[in-house]
Amino acid sequence: MTEKACSTCHLITTGNICPRCKTPTLSDDFSGLVIIFDQEDSAIARAMNIKEKGRYALKVR
Ligand SMILES: [Zn+2]
Repeated sequence: MTEKACSTCHLITTGNICPRCKTPTLSDDFSGLVIIFDQEDSAIARAMNIKEKGRYALKVR
């Protein structure tokens, strides 16, 4: 199954809509996989404005 990244929140999903924003603005052209385990204690999560743990793409085109 192809993974896609949401162009709005950068969450990576295998579905056709983003489970977080419920938007279909997904792109399979992304790079830089980031896995957030503890969004409270992650500089990357703060920089990317991530509020939930999960797998995110650094760049979505
Ligand atoms: Zn999203």
